[in-house]
Amino acid sequence: MVMESAMHDTNARLDACTRYACLVLSLMLALPLQAQSGRGSPPDFRLQEVVPGVFATLEPREWALSPMVHGNSVFVVNERDVLAVDANRTPAAARRTLDLLRGVTSNPIRWLLVTHWHGDHWLGVQAFREAFPALQVIATDTARQAMFPMLIEPFRIRQPAWYSTTADRYDSLFNAGVDVAGRPLTPARRKTSDMVRNAFRHYYAAEAQGMRLAAPDLTFRDSIRLHSGKRIIDLLFVGNGDTPGDAVAWLPAERVLAAGDMLVHPVPYAGSQVPSQWAKSLRSLRALDPLHIVPGHGEVQRGTAYLDLVIATIEATVAQVRRLQAEGASLEEVTKTVTMEAFRGRMVPANDAAVADRWDDFLGALIPNAYAEAASRTGS
Ligand SMILES: [Zn+2]
Repeated sequence: MVMESAMHDTNARLDACTRYACLVLSLMLALPLQAQSGRGSPPDFRLQEVVPGVFATLEPREWALSPMVHGNSVFVVNERDVLAVDANRTPAAARRTLDLLRGVTSNPIRWLLVTHWHGDHWLGVQAFREAFPALQVIATDTARQAMFPMLIEPFRIRQPAWYSTTADRYDSLFNAGVDVAGRPLTPARRKTSDMVRNAFRHYYAAEAQGMRLAAPDLTFRDSIRLHSGKRIIDLLFVGNGDTPGDAVAWLPAERVLAAGDMLVHPVPYAGSQVPSQWAKSLRSLRALDPLHIVPGHGEVQRGTAYLDLVIATIEATVAQVRRLQAEGASLEEVTKTVTMEAFRGRMVPANDAAVADRWDDFLGALIPNAYAEAASRTGS
């Protein structure tokens, strides 16, 4: 979703989103990550071999479901080098994923694809550059352009006081008994909120103040095909995703897709301002017929069942919102009417409060975006 940068620094983006979505966004913006093992360290990532020679490092579930997401990474180990996808939220986190990589290969990382501009996918790039000075960092033209106003410039001008003020805000929310979305703290939310506020104050704030952000070196509009030994890797832009410039990495021989936040598990993000285009982009990914999909957050998917469910959920929501908007319903009325319960039941396990909250975040952003898109189509 939208977790990335700096809450007070993204006025353009905030102006474009709904009040509800912005509230959630604000949170994420400022937050970053942390750790299971302690208050002051990044998450304990897990290495998973997707197919022989292709690995994913996955953040713990509780982080993946919180505003403290770090993002999964993918490592494609070739005969003499490695392609990496995404660089986590901090250099300390990235070093942890690189340590896991070193457990399976000594090959250097030659390329790093940053799937989109959100901070949880590339604020750790400094650790990659330090470890591999010859590294080429790659992104779409659009993603690179977005990094300057959304992250690079805000981080450049941000004062140390911003971090203490933001940490105090998280404490205030916690002490007031609400989460970042303003929801009352249930036991599950209390646990997550406590993790987030401690991580921000004791881990992320220090990391962020030492970051040196450098924009990608190589950009593309539609695609790049990389060759290394027998390996073929396609870096693709297939259209609007969670952001306007999302890239994916596709291994045509192995049928492995690193999807970035175009697909997030177990509930998608809804950052796209044009949901119908996002669904269309996901259909383009579906047409690749992937056998394994590494989402930007959450568990590795075998087959396309989850991708199909996400496409169906978005398309059904967009269709319902369009119909009601065309009939003259207000956004408030649409929000009350469109509950998508059948899809909710397929994504949210029974008695899983954390995933249920994520669903509420998802639908709470998707409906206003779909409504705005419908209104722009009808000129109303
Ligand atoms: Zn993300």
